[in-house]
Amino acid sequence: MGEKESIYAYKKKSAWETLTRDQIKKAFEFAEGYKLFLDNVKTEREAVQKIKEAAKRDKKRIITNREKEAAIIVPGKKSVEEGLRIVISHIDSPRLDLKQIPLYEDQDSNLALLETHYYGGIKKFQWVTIPLALHGVIIKKTGEKIIFTLGEDIDDPVFSVPDLLPHLSHEVQDTKKIDDAIKGESLDIVVGNRSATGNFKEGIKTAIIDKLHKDYGITEEDFISAELEAVPTFKAKDVGFDRSLIGAYGQDDRASVYAALKAILRLKNPEHATIALFVDKEEIGSEGSTAAQVTSFIRSIIRDLNPRIDIDSIMLKTKVISADVNSAVTPNYIDVFDVKNASSLGGGVVISKYTGHGGKYSANDASAEYVAEIRAMLDKAKIPWQTGELGKVDKGGGGTVAKYLSRLGMEVIDLGAPVLSMHSPYEITSKVDIYSSFLAYYEFLKS
Ligand code: MN
Ligand code: MN
Repeated sequence: MGEKESIYAYKKKSAWETLTRDQIKKAFEFAEGYKLFLDNVKTEREAVQKIKEAAKRDKKRIITNREKEAAIIVPGKKSVEEGLRIVISHIDSPRLDLKQIPLYEDQDSNLALLETHYYGGIKKFQWVTIPLALHGVIIKKTGEKIIFTLGEDIDDPVFSVPDLLPHLSHEVQDTKKIDDAIKGESLDIVVGNRSATGNFKEGIKTAIIDKLHKDYGITEEDFISAELEAVPTFKAKDVGFDRSLIGAYGQDDRASVYAALKAILRLKNPEHATIALFVDKEEIGSEGSTAAQVTSFIRSIIRDLNPRIDIDSIMLKTKVISADVNSAVTPNYIDVFDVKNASSLGGGVVISKYTGHGGKYSANDASAEYVAEIRAMLDKAKIPWQTGELGKVDKGGGGTVAKYLSRLGMEVIDLGAPVLSMHSPYEITSKVDIYSSFLAYYEFLKS
């Protein structure tokens, strides 16, 4: 890009050197809005809410599905029959969900706790001893919905999963495999210590139910029809002396969500009809009525664009970017990466031809033709990019929503920012990569 193309070698470039000074300034400005978005969007429902507000503000057409899936639609110059341009990203992130009957009192420790069931692929030891907030909804039997957020404001209380002190953890944790050291059932969250006056039997729990009833009008049974998610309270911050990086919870995949949202909001008069699709439940295999596997939502959007259309033939002509983050080469653990083929922070948006595990099992393997088209598009617009794959062959693996749309006959490729410490409570990205992904999605959608 820029200089004369070499026929001898593909060389990874730094996005910090590829972008102009003005673009880097814009990347830093972009990061400010992104950090604010991350602080305000920690669940799938909050994502849909913010996306809806943004679409309304910019007078863009938006369709939602059950408050957990959304699509912003911009009609194109060409007819829908020419196919669509879709950027799909996921709005859910790994976390600790509350169980249906979560609250109990542990009389030995003199504490009240909430039972959790973790959601998505987490390393359990990362989720203890950090401040957590509770976000979600409680639906009462009457259907009344209570929107619940506690732990984010500066003077809010927070919650936390306790861990054993090192003095006593030798036998039960330190000598075990890291996976067995902390069990899923040991991720209960501490929520209280003070008992109700004069009530010694389950006194702490009683006091908490009284408090919840007073503050929110809910009963213990109302937890049964609630969706409460414990998420890290950390605010998004710049990381590094040079402020080049961003540390925050939920960047998989809200990095792509924010970039795709900004891209489609800026769009005017694209060539093809375009959709920014925001789906739920990717982290648990895209199962459920608000997930990418369910194609009725996509079909209904296409029908919305033109009700008398042959949907199948349109899907065959449709091009998709699966906007999801990629694993960045991780210092101290270089061995699991084939560094030539892996992405690193600051290298720009990542093209992943395929994901999957083993012999590309369960992967969307994008065609060479489509990869060529995407790399030509990025080069033409001088957008920094790199290639990426999740890790060395047979070292592990994973997938994105790419395969679910490719099953519909659409051309799909994975394109997103690299992330360090993926699925941890504090994921790290580079400002230039986030900005590059925004530029890439915009360029694609307007084509
Ligand atoms: Mn993801
Ligand atoms: Mn993920």
